[in-house]
Amino acid sequence: MSEPTHYLQQSPVSPEIAARFPDLHPGFDKQAAVAEANRCLYCFDAPCTGACPTHIDVPRFIKKIASGNLAGSARTILDANILGESCSRACPVEVLCQGACVLHRYNKKPIEIGRLQRYAMDSLHASGAVLPFTPGADTGKSVALIGGGPASLACAAELRRRGIRAEIYDARALPGGLNTYGIAEYKLTLDASLREIDMLSQLGVQFHLNTTVDAAMLTELEAAHDAVFLGLGLGAIHKLGVTGEALDGVTNALDLIAGYKSGAITSSPARVAVIGAGNTAIDAANASVRLGATEVTMVYRRGPEQMSAFDFEYEHAKQEGVRFLWHVQPVSIKGRKAVEGLELQALEASADGSLVPADAHWTLPVDGIVLAIGQATHSDFLSTGSTVQLERGRVVIDRASGQTTNPKYFAGGDCTNGGREVVDAVADGKRAGMGIAAWLAAQSAVQNGGSHADA
Ligand code: SF4
Repeated sequence: MSEPTHYLQQSPVSPEIAARFPDLHPGFDKQAAVAEANRCLYCFDAPCTGACPTHIDVPRFIKKIASGNLAGSARTILDANILGESCSRACPVEVLCQGACVLHRYNKKPIEIGRLQRYAMDSLHASGAVLPFTPGADTGKSVALIGGGPASLACAAELRRRGIRAEIYDARALPGGLNTYGIAEYKLTLDASLREIDMLSQLGVQFHLNTTVDAAMLTELEAAHDAVFLGLGLGAIHKLGVTGEALDGVTNALDLIAGYKSGAITSSPARVAVIGAGNTAIDAANASVRLGATEVTMVYRRGPEQMSAFDFEYEHAKQEGVRFLWHVQPVSIKGRKAVEGLELQALEASADGSLVPADAHWTLPVDGIVLAIGQATHSDFLSTGSTVQLERGRVVIDRASGQTTNPKYFAGGDCTNGGREVVDAVADGKRAGMGIAAWLAAQSAVQNGGSHADA
C-alpha cells in the first residue's frame, strides 16, 4: 500500500475567505450535543434512518453521543456512510432525516440530526483518530474510478475494505469533486472535505490528479484494471444562447463557487444578476453578496412556486439581501468589452398556461452575470463506441449493483441520476462498491471453477 497523501496540507483556503463564509450552522459544543441527543426518542424502526439515502442508524449514533461514546458514534455513522462528515454539513436535512423525525407529529422541534452527526465526526477528527477501518486482505484485483467526487470516494472505500485496489482519476488539482469545489463554503468547507479524503487516503485509496480521462485513456484503464467505476458527475453549466455571452463579467455558478473556494476569486462585481433559481443559483447569489456585491438579483422565467431551490434556501437568500425578479427572461447581454446590462423581457401566462413573451422590455444595469441554468451531462466520450448504454446523456445502471450494460463498467452519482444530493451519490457509490466486489468474486469463482475442471 502506498504512503497516504495529506491533501489538507494543500488547502488553498485563505483566512479572508474563511471569514467571509463562516458556518451557516455552527457545530454543537459538548453540553448542547448531549442535551440534544437526550431529546431523541430512539424510535424503533426509526423513520429518520429510512429517510437517509445511506441508512445511517440514526438513533444508535445519537444514543452513543448521549452516553459519551463518541468514537462508537462516529463508527456507526462511517459504517453506513464513509462521507458522514461532508453529509452532516451538506445534506438538506429538512427534507431527509430531520424532515422525517417523529417529533414533528407532536409539534415539537425535530432532532438536529445533521448537527449531531457533525459533532460526532468533528470529535473523531479532533481526537486525531484514524479511520476506524482497515483495508481487507489483498485480493490482487484493481478498479479504476473516473471522477473524484463523492460517488467515487464512497465506492473506493467499499473496495478497499474488501481488499480491492482503488485508483481514482480526476481532472482537478485536489480530490473530492463537488465536495471540495462545488458546495458553498458556509455549508461544507473545502478543508472539511480534504480532511475526510485524507482518511480515505489512509485506507489506501490512490488518486491520480490533474488527469483528464478521454476515450483513449478509458480504453487503457479498462485493459489495466479488473473493473471501471464511472463517477463522472455532471458537465458544464448550460449557456443562455443570447448575444453578449462572451463579454467579460459573464461566468457560471460552479466556476464562481470553485473560484472563491480555491482562492482564485476574492471579490465580486458590484451589481450582479444570477440567472436560474435552483440551489446552486442561490449559493452563487449568496456568494456574490459575501464577496462584496452591493446589488444581487436572481432572474427566473417562472414564479417562486416553481423554483427548484428548497424553501429554506430561498429564505436564506432573502436574508442575505438577494432580490428576485420573477417571470422574466434574458434576451441579450449588453456591453462593449465587459457586461454593462442584462436585457430582459417579461413573460405572461397564455390561455393554455404556457409562458409567452409580453410587451415589457427593459435593461437591468449590471456589472456581472452568473449563469445557473442546469448542467449538461459529460459522458460524451462514452458514446463514442463504448458499450455503456446512455439514456438522455445519463449512464443506465442496474440500481441494486450499479452495473452498466457493459458488465465491466459500474456507475453512480450525478452521471446516472442527472444531479441529486451528495448523500445520494454516496449511497450509489457504496452500492456500486459492493456490486463490483460481488461481480469480481463471481468472475474469480468461474475462472477457478474452469481451472479446476481443466486440471
Ligand atoms: S447522511 Fe444526511 S440524510 Fe443521512 S442521517 Fe446524515 S445528515 Fe441525515
